[in-house]
Amino acid sequence: MMISEKLQTKVTKQCDVLVCGGGFAGISAALASARQGKKTILLEKQFILGGLGTAGLVTIYLPLCDGIGHQVSFGIAEELFRLAISMGAEDRYPENWLDCNDTSKRTEKNKRFEVRYNPQLFALLAEQLLVKEGVEILYGSYAVAVTKNVNKIESVIIENKSGRQAIVTKSVVDATGDGDITYYAEAPTEVFKQGNVLAAWYYFLNGMGYDLNMLGVADIPDEQKKESNQVETLVSNRFTGLDGDELSYMTRLSHQSVLNDILKRRQKDKTLIPTSIATIPQIRMTRKILGEYVLHDSEMHKHFEDSIGMISDWRKRGPVYEIPFSALYSKKIKNLITAGRCISVTDSMWDISRVIPSCAVTGQAAGTAAALTDDFALLDVKELQKILINAGVVLHESRGAKE
Ligand SMILES: Cc1cc2nc3c(=O)[nH]c(=O)nc-3n(C[C@H](O)[C@H](O)[C@H](O)COP(=O)(O)OP(=O)(O)OC[C@H]3O[C@@H](n4cnc5c(N)ncnc54)[C@H](O)[C@@H]3O)c2cc1C
Repeated sequence: MMISEKLQTKVTKQCDVLVCGGGFAGISAALASARQGKKTILLEKQFILGGLGTAGLVTIYLPLCDGIGHQVSFGIAEELFRLAISMGAEDRYPENWLDCNDTSKRTEKNKRFEVRYNPQLFALLAEQLLVKEGVEILYGSYAVAVTKNVNKIESVIIENKSGRQAIVTKSVVDATGDGDITYYAEAPTEVFKQGNVLAAWYYFLNGMGYDLNMLGVADIPDEQKKESNQVETLVSNRFTGLDGDELSYMTRLSHQSVLNDILKRRQKDKTLIPTSIATIPQIRMTRKILGEYVLHDSEMHKHFEDSIGMISDWRKRGPVYEIPFSALYSKKIKNLITAGRCISVTDSMWDISRVIPSCAVTGQAAGTAAALTDDFALLDVKELQKILINAGVVLHESRGAKE
């Protein structure tokens, strides 16, 4: 059965750049855009910034380095890393990177340029920073549709406590993690075919202090899976992350896994209590744009003329990827660009590009580009690269020297 609604939607706001989604990608994009002097609105459906990196309790800022002694991700990726631990780190503090001038120590086993931070502190500090830089943050606001004028987004329709309304914008950064805006605008998208395993990360307190329990490990992409290397999962179900009913069911299973784990551990330790459970679904890969370029995990150490920054492989030491600008947008919708977990990559690359440093790198590039143009295919990439370099980003791999 279908019902039809007649809608007349009031325009409540206008801006130069509308960043949809306030995770690490959206925070970076909004910062970058505001720093170009553009009127920037950051839209977030939760009432906290940080996305999976705060509300999702995924609090390990994975490496800014390649694991063999070279830093590869710079700019806002490093700025947010330092911000996250400016009031203290929780774990994995990389003293060999932050407090030591002896560069030979940067290759030490288990000591990559990564850290565990406190999610609440990061959310509070990121909010302060964004407000200071002039970003308007709109919490509790869900992007539900777009209106288009030929092949440009004219407005993003949102719903919040004030009801349904439209924000008119020159350009849009899709940092929803799920490519929601890309999908609404009917730009080409792809979904994660393999489906996600269940995760149930939670914080707990006991006599030893508080800690993070990481229930449900990352999966191995189908393309790399070997018979002998199957992942041990909490449940056998797989999840797309794109269906309302499925997400509710998945959340209940995740809660059940947390509770079972607590009950089991309390048999030995009666003092243990949970202090935080995730308030957004802990799902890794859902939907991404099919952009002008699709980056593959075999393209490590490849020089891209239109590189907007570099990332490493959090799972192994050595590989470095330059991210081409053309992996952030599709020509189908001229003023839409993606950042974070929904950029254009193959399924096997997705597991590498979805993590926090990479979301911050692509966020900075997308936000800067959105401040420069409302037609990404026509943007002079050299101009974008110049601004990124001035902001501290290193674009190409050259083993030590900044280009
Ligand atoms: C279980 C698990 C473990 C992980 N482990 C690690 C790890 O150890 N280290 C690491 O670096 N990465 C890890 N990751 C990956 C990493 O956390 C995320 O991929 C990354 O934080 C994504 O950032 P993002 O900004 O692209 O998206 P998200 O963090 O998903 O942010 C998107 C934001 O957009 C908002 N949003 C979504 N849709 C809409 C809409 N329609 N309207 C308005 N707002 C919207 C959401 O509320 C959210 O705040 C893990 C992920 C999972 C699920």
